[in-house]
Amino acid sequence: MSPKSPPLAFIKRLSQGSILADGAMGTMLHQSGVALDACFDELNVSDPDRVLGVHRAFIDAGSELIETNTFSANRYKLAAHGWQTEVDAFNEAAVKLARQSAEASKDRTVYVAGAIGPIGARLAPYGRVQPEQAFDAFFEQCAALAKGGVDVFILETFTDLNEITEALKAARAAAPNVPVIASMTFTRDDRTVLGDAPREVANALAAMGADVIGVNCSGGPSQLARIAQVMRTVEPDVPISAMPNAGFPETMAGRVMYPATPDYFGDYAIAFRDIGVTVIGGCCGTTPDHIRAMRKALDAPAHEHPMIVPLPVLNGHDAALSSEQPTELSRAAQLHRAEGHRLGAASARGGRGRGRRV
Ligand SMILES: [Zn+2]
Repeated sequence: MSPKSPPLAFIKRLSQGSILADGAMGTMLHQSGVALDACFDELNVSDPDRVLGVHRAFIDAGSELIETNTFSANRYKLAAHGWQTEVDAFNEAAVKLARQSAEASKDRTVYVAGAIGPIGARLAPYGRVQPEQAFDAFFEQCAALAKGGVDVFILETFTDLNEITEALKAARAAAPNVPVIASMTFTRDDRTVLGDAPREVANALAAMGADVIGVNCSGGPSQLARIAQVMRTVEPDVPISAMPNAGFPETMAGRVMYPATPDYFGDYAIAFRDIGVTVIGGCCGTTPDHIRAMRKALDAPAHEHPMIVPLPVLNGHDAALSSEQPTELSRAAQLHRAEGHRLGAASARGGRGRGRRV
């Protein structure tokens, strides 16, 4: 941990070594009593203290990069709640809350990432939304986030290279000077829903000119270490980001539970850094306890942590042998459809994932 220093432009900060991001905004909001079917993005306006509380908890745990509560704040997702005219208001309010939290940090510089998720509808030729319509929606959100004053955009949980292409183009058009992290999500066989392998995704995102390329959510730290390692190998000159969920969710006594513990995340923070991952964080199911364990591990002297060697890439059913897989796969799939982050996978199978960062 370094004492607070004058803020560096985000990309320059990355050249100095790994940066620890935050965990799951959605999980924290849900744990605080917000219903899963509520509009989380609207809370930026109606209940700012609740959102501020989550940002503070992650900064206190050691995050140096926090994401705005805007994963679903695009006109398509907001339309499901009747809020499609509030894109500017929700995004600008979200940046203000994140910025306020970041600036209150006493020990270290905290950067603000504008979180942008998929629009939640398939693009042509697989679906009804034309690429230009997706571009317009992303442009609208990016412009509002940039107006609010984000340090970086993070495009996350995308499952379709065509859709993330539109999002990246829109980000560049809306704010040419704001760097972009472009992160996709993989199914349990280490492919995107549309069948792209990590190598193809890394090459495509780098060719589009993303400043950081990466992987988030998916099936937990072990899978993401494997994918990040491939990305690092095929695109050695582009910084890599990895933000795993806490394994596949299970329900116990009616509660959504994630199997991966904070200590496990602590060990993997080191594994990610050793692979060469620059932006390390958490996705669905990761709490301030996970981030605190990662902070502690990253700050510890080198000899204190175990060495984890990521497994080779698994294919097909072999992937189901991972220890992070739940015993009841169908139940996990059901949960994913219900609450959604990996849910491109669900929608491709006809499910109705909402794609929220839970
Ligand atoms: Zn997630």
